Amino acid sequence: MHYTGWFQEQPQLAAARCHHELSGLVEFVPMKRALNEHCPAPRRAVALISGGLDSMLAALVVQAQGVHVEGLNFFTGFCVEGHTHAIRSTRQKMPRRNNALWVAEQLGMRLHIIDVIEEYKDVLLKPRHGYGANLNPCLDCKSFMVGKARQWLEQNGFDFIITGEVVGQRPMSQRRDTLPVVARESGAHDLLLRPLCARLQPPTLPEREGWVDRERLYGFSGRSRKPQMALAAEYGIEEYAQPAGGCCFLTDASYASKLRDLWQARGEKRYELDDIMLLKVGRHLRPRPHFKLIVARDAGETRYLQGYRGHFAHLEMTSHGGPLTLIEGEVAAGDFELAARIAARFGQGRNADSVSFRAVMADGSERLLSVVPLSPNQVPRDWYV
Ligand code: SF4
Repeated sequence: MHYTGWFQEQPQLAAARCHHELSGLVEFVPMKRALNEHCPAPRRAVALISGGLDSMLAALVVQAQGVHVEGLNFFTGFCVEGHTHAIRSTRQKMPRRNNALWVAEQLGMRLHIIDVIEEYKDVLLKPRHGYGANLNPCLDCKSFMVGKARQWLEQNGFDFIITGEVVGQRPMSQRRDTLPVVARESGAHDLLLRPLCARLQPPTLPEREGWVDRERLYGFSGRSRKPQMALAAEYGIEEYAQPAGGCCFLTDASYASKLRDLWQARGEKRYELDDIMLLKVGRHLRPRPHFKLIVARDAGETRYLQGYRGHFAHLEMTSHGGPLTLIEGEVAAGDFELAARIAARFGQGRNADSVSFRAVMADGSERLLSVVPLSPNQVPRDWYV
């Protein structure tokens, strides 16, 4: 919108299309009041924020057009963010932070973190479009999250939804033929704006209505990250989360194999939050079909697993330094010796003649146990889950 009247003589002010673009130009209160009479309230968009660069840029590009943007971040239980690398003691390259919150702080944007653990079970256990390379139901997952954003938008009176999707970036959910599936199945239809590839898509409602300027959106496609990196540089963004590892553990082959093993051992596809958190921690070995060991990989993981001692039979190494080992399953007294011989392999007594443990049963009863550690070739590869 262009303004008429005495302030039109001010070239900078006359060029502004609404009072949001006057931020920093106008301090004169009566003038602001006059402008606001001509300008509707700012449009409000909700952006899906994963913590990665694409969703950060998508929100920023729309924010830069004077739209009020708030972020949504969904906690499924499978998020990579701030879990494993927050626990491990070893020095990590990745900073120990929640990247979605960090993005919100960088953009000066309110972030709503929404727990979808229970609802997400249906998405993961019965995906209509199946799984990707591992146990990632990306297409169903995207439709679910955009659908949740649509519900949120309706409840909170927002105008449209932003995602950081790029055509051809991901093999399952971000293909030319699957982007319309997400828009349709989520119920968002053309309220869904993908600012990074909008120029390759039919104009959405926010573009047609002039809430955002299509000319200032982008036409990125393909797997290359260079256009996003160049755009980040234009905005002066030097630091951002690297995409390695993706946004969730379901894309990880090793994690998927542990989850399949869990379902197989239970005889059904079922999980609770503790189950899926524990799959992120420690080495997992299944020497017998009816029990599995979770062996901490460092002192940080041992401390974390200590929180689960009340719920699992476990082994604490007493004669040497070594990790805590949880035992999951219907473990009988006779299974403890094999479990202890395996656990002994991962402590400082791995070459000793004997390693001692305090063995605690699931019912809390205890006994002391001394065993000969297994040698590496006595631990078959297929015991590792
Ligand atoms: S990687 Fe995970 S969170 Fe991301 S779309 Fe796929 S299933 Fe959903």
